[in-house]
Amino acid sequence: MKAARLHAPRDIRIEEIPTPRPAAGEVLVRVRAVSICASDWRLYTDGHSGGVVPDHPIIQGHEFAGDVVALGEGVTAPSVGTRVAVEPSWHCGRCDQCQRGYTNICRNVVFPSFPPRDGALAEYIACPVTSVCPLPETVSYAEGALVEPLGVAIHAVRLARPQAGERIVILGAGAIGTCTLLVLKAYGCSLPAVVEPVAGRREWPARLGAAPLVADYQELLNAGIEADIVFECSGDNAALAQAMRLARPAGRVMMVGIPQPEQVSFDASVARRRELTVVFTRRSRDTLTEAVGLAATGRVDLAAFPIRRYSLAQAMAAMEATGARPGDMLRAVVFP
Ligand SMILES: [Zn+2]
Ligand SMILES: [Zn+2]
Repeated sequence: MKAARLHAPRDIRIEEIPTPRPAAGEVLVRVRAVSICASDWRLYTDGHSGGVVPDHPIIQGHEFAGDVVALGEGVTAPSVGTRVAVEPSWHCGRCDQCQRGYTNICRNVVFPSFPPRDGALAEYIACPVTSVCPLPETVSYAEGALVEPLGVAIHAVRLARPQAGERIVILGAGAIGTCTLLVLKAYGCSLPAVVEPVAGRREWPARLGAAPLVADYQELLNAGIEADIVFECSGDNAALAQAMRLARPAGRVMMVGIPQPEQVSFDASVARRRELTVVFTRRSRDTLTEAVGLAATGRVDLAAFPIRRYSLAQAMAAMEATGARPGDMLRAVVFP
């Protein structure tokens, strides 16, 4: 099969490699769409993920959808030909974390595209059958890939437990911030204020009804806005401190973005005097079926997601576009 493999920072090569075989309990998926995440871009530019360096030219991409084309031993469903979306946090089901239901923080978690496991920027990938969810015909493959970031947002909103009438602020209207807005809207929560410095990225939140919509968090402070919940989705290193300043006493700060660099500082007196709760979220758990359902019923309109389309041969261009963070695109989507 053809695969896009990262040999060194900013060096992806399209290569012919053996097609994987589905092991027992796995299905083989013909990949039809892969959306590129900011975390993919970081591995692409840094050559490592959180200090873990791939031990081989790695295939990136963990937000994907495709067709089931073969079943491993012991698998009887879904049948060959089924269109599926995939949850990429592959948990063991046996460890203490899995037993407690925290499958996203499984001690033996396998995450395709995170070294050493290959991801989906290829024609085929073998996946645990427990990680796939059938996609209705009305949901496109690209939407099927976007179900993954939608799941990250669902997980964060579930953990935040928003109550009726609570004031919410989202920092960052990239894919995750916008998905968080979409989930809040689908759940009937009060529409959030959004902080996003890139002008083009404020357009869709504006159409969705987010208000106020500002370029800098200071504008919200100046307007006297205090949030019950702040979702930090920007990944900006300064954002935790900003989120704390925006939170009201006894408020919650949800750290969804991955700060860069990861060492973060904040004013402890703000956090302490306001008795803030800060929750760090990790990917998603048990969100796939709900995310597909939200997309299939139209409660979340993933078809409106601003994407740019790329072939597998253009995988490097898709990565570079992700890093450039243009205003008119929230996800680069590769169609292998
Ligand atoms: Zn992702
Ligand atoms: Zn486990």
